[in-house]
Amino acid sequence: MSAKNETQIITATAVIDSQALLNNYQQIKKQVPQSKILAVLKANGYGHGLERIAKLLSKNTNTDAFGVARLDEALLLRAAGIVQPIVLLEGVFNQADLPIVAVNDLQIVIHNKAQLDALIKITPKKLLNKQIKVWLKIDTGMHRLGIASNDFDYFYQQLQTSNNVQTPITLMSHLACADDQNNNLTNIQLALFEQLTSHLNEPKSCANSAGICAWQQSHYDWLRPGLMLYGVSPLLNADHDRKNDAKALAIKPVMTLQASLIALRQVNAGESVGYGANWTSKQHTTIGIIAIGYGDGYPRHAENGTPVLINDRIVPLVGRVAMDMITVDLGHKSIDRIGDIATLWGKGLPVEVIAKHASTIAYELLCNIKPRVQITVH
Ligand SMILES: *Cc1c(COP(=O)(O)O)cnc(C)c1O
Repeated sequence: MSAKNETQIITATAVIDSQALLNNYQQIKKQVPQSKILAVLKANGYGHGLERIAKLLSKNTNTDAFGVARLDEALLLRAAGIVQPIVLLEGVFNQADLPIVAVNDLQIVIHNKAQLDALIKITPKKLLNKQIKVWLKIDTGMHRLGIASNDFDYFYQQLQTSNNVQTPITLMSHLACADDQNNNLTNIQLALFEQLTSHLNEPKSCANSAGICAWQQSHYDWLRPGLMLYGVSPLLNADHDRKNDAKALAIKPVMTLQASLIALRQVNAGESVGYGANWTSKQHTTIGIIAIGYGDGYPRHAENGTPVLINDRIVPLVGRVAMDMITVDLGHKSIDRIGDIATLWGKGLPVEVIAKHASTIAYELLCNIKPRVQITVH
């Protein structure tokens, strides 16, 4: 243990606010009480920890299902004791994975002919110990995954008549532009989905976070929130348009990324800071060195002026982001001390804002959090 009064330093730490997570879940439930929730946990729970987030939701909410991208992620959840339905959002890529899906009681998306054939033609039949639950994904205009609308009747009929498939079959699509309330592609996508599926009495699902927040017609039976569960606004311009920000949506950031000041340095007007000397001070000032860098997942492309929160004020990032450190301009009146804790994003400083300054999106910043970042859960 450290001696009394010795300065406590924290290196890059992600503080996970479990109350915020539950608040965000409840907000979705409150907004759309009639729909079920499939909580999306891919990419290590958007950087928050796959098992951690699954356990918090599973213990404290009635989350109806979890969604992951890959089989390995689903198996980690089962190994962690998660018993809720788990959907593989891209399905399986090899027929040999289907018995693993069946044994582990997973559900699969079917989005192409190879996946359909693998499932309905698997031999010998005894490879599957039970029927598999299927989500049929239709491409309504995103043109990434999903069957063409012309093929819908064929796929639906094949699945319905297969002994390997458990009914009902959930019908789904994914929205390309739901973050933009003015983009008509969402209306076109939803109209096509309606046209193909409205006569069928099957569960339906179209809404990601942005669909939940901005497109009531997309809600259907199953919501698929990812980003907003983590307290980040999925809407366009959330960094500066207050009607689209997290506060307006009544969601709260789950991750707050922090690190201490580990050094202070005086620089004079005309002196530069950091690699490439890409920032030069216009005046005498105090530079603070903070124990976080791109080796932790703080974006190297964060520009000069990116806000950092320290001692209840915003200070600008100055100089290039290094692997283990960043530098900020604390100003000539600084009374900050070594050990003081800076917030890089989260409570008090939305990650949406940092994403803008780093020419990226909040999704990428969150799932770039590296394993060496300490995690504490509150
Ligand atoms: C990732 C994903 C989601 C969640 O998207 P968010 O924008 O994070 O809410 C929903 N559905 C599918 C199919 C996905 O791949």
